[in-house]
Amino acid sequence: MLNTPKDEIDSLRARISHHGWRYYHLDAPEISDFEYDQMLKRLIELEEAHPELYDPESPSQKIGAARFEMFRPVEHEIPMMSLDNVFSLEELQAYFLRVTKSFSKQELEELKWVFELKIDGLAISLVYRHGMLVTAATRGNGRIGEDVTANVLAINSIPKALTTRGSTSPPAFLEVRGEVYMGKEAFVRLNQAQMDAGQPPFANPRNSAAGSLRQKDPRITAKRELSFWAYQLVRVAGDQHLTSHIESLRYLEQCGFPVNPNIKVISGQEEIVAEISKWDAKRHELDYEIDGAVIKIDDLRLRERLGSTARAPRWAIAYKLAPEERETKLLNIEVSIGKSGKATPFAVLEPVLVGGSTVSRATLHNEDQVKLKGVRVGDTVVVRKAGDVIPEVMRFVPELRMPDAKEWHFPSECPLCGSPLERKSGESDTYCVNFYCEGRIVQRLAHFCSRSALDIEGLGESRIAQLVDEGLILSPPDIFRLQYSQLIGFEGFGEKSVTALLGAIEEAKNGSLSRLLVGLAIRHVGEGAARALAKSFRSLPELMKASKEQMSAIDGIGEKISESVREFFESPKSSKICNELIDLGVAIEEPIDQAGGVEIAKNLVGKVIVITGTLTAFTRDAAEAAVIERGGKASSSVSKRTSVLVAGDAPGGSKIAKAEELAVPIVNESQFLELLRLGELS
Ligand code: NAD
Repeated sequence: MLNTPKDEIDSLRARISHHGWRYYHLDAPEISDFEYDQMLKRLIELEEAHPELYDPESPSQKIGAARFEMFRPVEHEIPMMSLDNVFSLEELQAYFLRVTKSFSKQELEELKWVFELKIDGLAISLVYRHGMLVTAATRGNGRIGEDVTANVLAINSIPKALTTRGSTSPPAFLEVRGEVYMGKEAFVRLNQAQMDAGQPPFANPRNSAAGSLRQKDPRITAKRELSFWAYQLVRVAGDQHLTSHIESLRYLEQCGFPVNPNIKVISGQEEIVAEISKWDAKRHELDYEIDGAVIKIDDLRLRERLGSTARAPRWAIAYKLAPEERETKLLNIEVSIGKSGKATPFAVLEPVLVGGSTVSRATLHNEDQVKLKGVRVGDTVVVRKAGDVIPEVMRFVPELRMPDAKEWHFPSECPLCGSPLERKSGESDTYCVNFYCEGRIVQRLAHFCSRSALDIEGLGESRIAQLVDEGLILSPPDIFRLQYSQLIGFEGFGEKSVTALLGAIEEAKNGSLSRLLVGLAIRHVGEGAARALAKSFRSLPELMKASKEQMSAIDGIGEKISESVREFFESPKSSKICNELIDLGVAIEEPIDQAGGVEIAKNLVGKVIVITGTLTAFTRDAAEAAVIERGGKASSSVSKRTSVLVAGDAPGGSKIAKAEELAVPIVNESQFLELLRLGELS
């Protein structure tokens, strides 16, 4: 029961942070964007009503996140902000009133808005020096993003050099921001190719754009048909005589940037509303996905005067379009078996067009959800697809329920192997108990080879099913025993593809313990937990020996996870698999800091570093580990021996005071990054 506003705020903050983590770090959302936005909206409302409960750590005060395991961090000199959202015309009206209340009569008369489509991709910042593209970075947490320059060079529609008018030379400096996206047709082509190669398809164009841009290998990005719309000129050297947003967009066009043709300058609010309804109806005619419209003040002087909040500019608002809902018939409820043996009920539907694609299956999550929704086979149900996650059955339509609609009960036996399905007390999920269940084997092996785990290109689900059928593989070690003579001649296996596959398998041996742990699909162990365990225990044999208590002592590892890891290693079958993998030479160690793939210089030997407050690019553990990896000492209290105090958000007052008293240098997060890089402060 949430009795007080504080309880509700705490609960919302925890839930939003959890979903933010899944979305930004794991690229694996569990809920739709719409639900996420509704939770955030409720939190903001409550926080506004209770300013005494303000917390700078609240997710309402933060922008996204960044992952630096693969990319170098880049600091945005001008923060990359989010946008405030409205979800109805009334809220939009209230925004107009709020934002224009300080305007003079003349300013109101001359006021112009720029209407833009809100492209569903990911934001990118592009920096040009003397006309040449030098840095491309993702938004990250708004202040620090990821350096994806090598990958952006592979996107055709992004100019590598600016075009200049006549004989004028390009500006010495220019920063532009815009959205990298994948068009709907390119998305269909990519998913077809994924399936042909036996790889799982992407959920939607936005996920595939984000996944394609954040590739270790830019050659993969090059193949992915990404596109770009520029929507903001951030800075440009020299006086370009630009006084309005629309002028700056035209200037960007002249420099060679693609600017969306549906951008419109509008004076009256009625016209904005008309434009929103027009695009709500026509959104599926576009070749790319949109999730709303962005309405911006055109006059750059007015924008400057309005400024921004911690999260978003005041001069723009995003109008989010509601996710589309459609009614259809629920033909049956079936259960699928996942890689960990999880039995997930799903609805078999009469095919229906929702959110731009045909839906014939939709998840029902678990037994409790089916009961809660009260759906029966034969019901007319409402299906929603928020554009980002798999479609979902929202509710049934009571007026259309037929007398013969059949109640559904969770099966007691696995539909694939007939073994019992088990639901532990206190858990909402049900599992097939058979470790060697047919569905589980293929799913487990496909997961083991997937991008998030050992990343073996060429071993997708259908190819694995083929090899399982032929009795060639049953468990992960079998993959590393595959031989040329066994594979050649198989349907779809030529000389070239067998050699490529064996090469990819060999390469997968050079992974890391954390990827291996993800691949082993230990119940409750996701990417975050795998990384935390690998970082602490460093090698598989060490982790196999670790007690529950040792694991629970690690930040981010709760009792549920440590119990499940112990259970896994105590099972004779899984420990046999692990020992075989060790014997086969698969990477069972966690390399020390892989950032940028370079060896870490011991540049902090003799330095004692204290960290206080919250950093945006690191957890406290990760920041301290980075110091130790460079030969430094991470200490928890400031003394005469302290070399530097790193102060993140909400730093401890006593540490700051002590550092000031002892004249210990106090640095911010970006100086800390520099310290890690150079070993000293400039
Ligand atoms: P946002 O996506 O609502 O708005 C900001 C972004 O809009 C900008 O960064 C930019 O990339 C983009 N944009 C597109 N067209 C634009 C234009 N013409 N002008 C300016 N910007 C434009 O805000 P956000 O902070 O990026 O929020 C993240 C999104 O991720 C939200 O939609 C949220 O629902 C979703 N999310 C979902 C989950 C989940 O679990 N499903 C979790 C976290 C976040």
